[in-house]
Amino acid sequence: MSHIGIFGGTFDPVHVGHIAVAVRVRAALELDRVDLVVAHEPWQKLDRPQLSPAQDRLAMVEAAVEGIDGVAASSVEIDRGGLTYTVDTLEAYRAADPDGSLFLILGSDAAGGLDTWHRYEEMAEMAEVVVVDRPGAMGERPPVAHRVVDCPLVDLSSTQVRAWADAGQPLDGLVPPAALAYCRQKRLYG
Ligand code: ATP
Repeated sequence: MSHIGIFGGTFDPVHVGHIAVAVRVRAALELDRVDLVVAHEPWQKLDRPQLSPAQDRLAMVEAAVEGIDGVAASSVEIDRGGLTYTVDTLEAYRAADPDGSLFLILGSDAAGGLDTWHRYEEMAEMAEVVVVDRPGAMGERPPVAHRVVDCPLVDLSSTQVRAWADAGQPLDGLVPPAALAYCRQKRLYG
């Protein structure tokens, strides 16, 4: 029976904080795989102008996870199109493997706001909710059953990465090298 971690995000761009979470949670919970699921149109971020194209965000995640054991990129939300609701994603994973176990991985900032998510109580029934602390949101927890996994704290966000890029500052060591090469080639930020 497969044990799959679902780690959703906008990944605009993917950064080393995301990768650390995927690798540590997979190891700690002995998951077969952790999927970085790239949101098509995250309803939480509709107010943000200029979200990078979904295909570019996906390509960066694919580049970033290449060669990392048991960590993959998923295009399921982009393929579905429209507004992204995580509950639909969980249903798709469950339909694909009804006997598998799902683990929904959330940074503590996302976990703290889970009660605003569409059908969040059903989500918590479909998947085990896993929370990792994140600087700026330490100790925030969802209003559903969950477990906490210890992860090295990485004080980094995509917002910060974009701000440094806009200021013409280097992103080496912050964005995985293959993803950084893609974003330079496509001139995505800055
Ligand atoms: P933005 O700054 O654009 O809002 P972000 O850095 O928060 O982006 P997302 O792609 O929105 O990244 O996050 C996807 C998931 O990754 C969320 O569950 C979020 O809490 C988690 N996450 C992002 N960065 C970190 C980090 N540094 N440490 C732990 N969790 C993180």
